[in-house]
Amino acid sequence: MTKTLRLILGDQLNHQHSWFNKKDSNVTYIMMEVMQEQTYVKHHIQKIVGFFMAMRNFAEELTKENHQIIYYKLDDKNNLQNFKENIQQEIQNHSIEKFEYQLPDEYRLDEQIKNICKELDIKFAVYETEHFYTKREDVKDFFSGKKQYLMETFYRDMRKKHHILVTKDLEPFGDKWNFDHENRKKYDGKYPLKAPLLFKKDASDIVKLLDDKKVQHFGKIKPKEFPYPTSRKEALKILNYFCEELLPNFGRYEDAMLKEHHTLFHSCLSFSLNLKMISPKEVINQVIDTWQANKKEIDIAQVEGFVRQVIGWREYMRGIYWDQMPSFATKNYLNNDNDLPSWFWDGKVKMNCLKHCINNSLDYAYAHHIQRLMVIGNFALLIGAKPKEVDDWYLGVYADAVEWVQITNTRGMSQFADGGLIGSKPYVASANYINKMSNYCKGCSYDKDKRYGENACPFNSLYWNFYIKHEDKLKKNPRIGMMYRLIEKMEKSEIESILKQADIYLTNLNSL
Ligand SMILES: Cc1cc2nc3c(=O)[nH]c(=O)nc-3n(C[C@H](O)[C@H](O)[C@H](O)COP(=O)(O)OP(=O)(O)OC[C@H]3O[C@@H](n4cnc5c(N)ncnc54)[C@H](O)[C@@H]3O)c2cc1C
Ligand code: SF4
Repeated sequence: MTKTLRLILGDQLNHQHSWFNKKDSNVTYIMMEVMQEQTYVKHHIQKIVGFFMAMRNFAEELTKENHQIIYYKLDDKNNLQNFKENIQQEIQNHSIEKFEYQLPDEYRLDEQIKNICKELDIKFAVYETEHFYTKREDVKDFFSGKKQYLMETFYRDMRKKHHILVTKDLEPFGDKWNFDHENRKKYDGKYPLKAPLLFKKDASDIVKLLDDKKVQHFGKIKPKEFPYPTSRKEALKILNYFCEELLPNFGRYEDAMLKEHHTLFHSCLSFSLNLKMISPKEVINQVIDTWQANKKEIDIAQVEGFVRQVIGWREYMRGIYWDQMPSFATKNYLNNDNDLPSWFWDGKVKMNCLKHCINNSLDYAYAHHIQRLMVIGNFALLIGAKPKEVDDWYLGVYADAVEWVQITNTRGMSQFADGGLIGSKPYVASANYINKMSNYCKGCSYDKDKRYGENACPFNSLYWNFYIKHEDKLKKNPRIGMMYRLIEKMEKSEIESILKQADIYLTNLNSL
C-alpha cells in the first residue's frame, strides 16, 4: 500500500467528501494554521478565529472517526509557517510516497500547490472538492464566444439541469423564472424580525494565540461570545433556523436595510458554505422541502429569490473567477485611483448609512448583500477608489470572504472594473435609493434631498459627478442613456454646483 499524505485546506472542511468514506492506515491528512494565510491580506479578527475554530473542530472530528491527522497549530515549534515547507517536512518525516490534494478554490493557492507538486519527487494526485454543482470550467463553456455573461441565462439552465423549481416539462414553478421585482421591499414591520442565531462560544485561546504571534488584524471581537458556526452540527442548525424562521420573508425583504437589525431575513449561511461545512445541494434541498411542506405560509417568490443566490450567483461567480483569473485581478476599466477613507477601518463617519454598514462589518465581520453592494461598494465606486484597495478591504473584513467569491463581486459586480462582463451597468445610486430601501436617512446629519449646499448628502453630488466624469465610457451603454438625457436637461449652473460640491467631498473624504 502507498503511504499517502492528503492536504486539507482551511476552506475544505467537507465531511461528506468521498475521501472520508473509508479509513485507511496508509493515509494521513495534514491541516495547518500558517502565517502565510494570515498575511496575504489583513483580516478581520473574527474571520481568522472562525477559520481556526472550524479547522480545529474538523480535525478533531476526523480523529474521532479514526482518521490519521497531522494538525499544525500556529505556534507549534515545528511549524514552518507555509504550506510548501510543512508538506516537505512531513513527506520526509513519514517517508510519504504520494501526495494528494483537493482543487483549491483560490487561484493563488492553486498556483502555489501546483508548484509544490512540480518540485516533489514522489507521485501526486488532485481531486474535486465535491462541493459545488458545477465544475470550474462550466461557466466558461456555457458562455463561450459571448461578450457579456448574463447570469439569468446561466441560472435558468441550472434550474433545468438540476430539476430545481421546474415542472416535468422544465417550465418554471409559478410560471416565472424570476421574482426579482417582488424582492425589493423596504422593511415595513408587517412581519416580525427574528434575532440571528448566534453561538456564543469561548474563543479566548485563539485570540490570545493571535496576540502572542503578533498577527495583524482589524475589526472587533467578543472573545467569550464568538458567534459563528464552526462545526457541521452548528452549520446545520443555522440552516434549520433559516428554513423555519427566515425563509418565509427572505425574498420580500432581501434588499431592505435597517438601522436596528443587520441581518433581517438573510440566511447567514455564507461562512458555513464557503468553508464547505455544508453543501449548496443540501441547502437547496432543505429549502425546497421546507417550502413544499409549507406552501400556505411560504410563497414561491421567497424560495426562488434564495435559490437564485445559491445555484445562480454563487456558482456563476465561481465560474467567472476560473474563466477570468489571473487577469481579472488587474482590471480597472474606469481607471480609478483614489484611496479609501480612513473610516473604512474605524467606522468613524457621519454619513448614517455608511456608519451603520461599516460598523456592522467591523462588529460582526458580516454585512448583507445590499449593504455591501449599494452602500459601501456604491460609495467606493462613486469616489473612484482603487479596485485593489477595495478588494483588500472586502477580502479582509468579511468572515465569508474567499477570493473566488469576493473579487468577482467586488471588482466585477460592485466596482465595474471588468467594464461590464458581470453587470450590464454600474451599481451606483444616490440617496434616493438608500432612502427607499432603508431607514438610514432619518436622523442623518446630511440632507438626502440636497445635491449641494450645506449638509447636502454626499451620495447625490458624487452620483452625478460619476456619470459626468465617465461619460466617454458610459454614455453609449443603452441601459444608462437616460441618465445622460437627464444631465442634458440640467441647467449649466446646476451642473457646476453639483460638480463643485462633489469636488469638496472628494478632497475631504476622511471627514465625511
Ligand atoms: C461587494 C461584494 C462583496 C461580496 N463578497 C462576498 C464574499 O467575500 N463572500 C461571499 O460568500 N459572498 C460575498 N458577496 C455576496 C453576498 O453579499 C454574500 O454572500 C451574502 O451577503 C452572505 O450573507 P448570507 O449568507 O446571509 O446571504 P443570503 O442573502 O442569505 O444569500 C444566501 C446565499 O447565497 C449566496 N450568495 C448570495 N449573493 C451572492 C453573490 N452575489 N455571489 C455569490 N454568492 C451569493 C451566498 O452563498 C449566501 O450565503 C459579496 C457581495 C458584494 C456585493
Ligand atoms: S442622507 Fe445620504 S449619507 Fe445620510 S443616510 Fe441618507 S444616503 Fe446616507
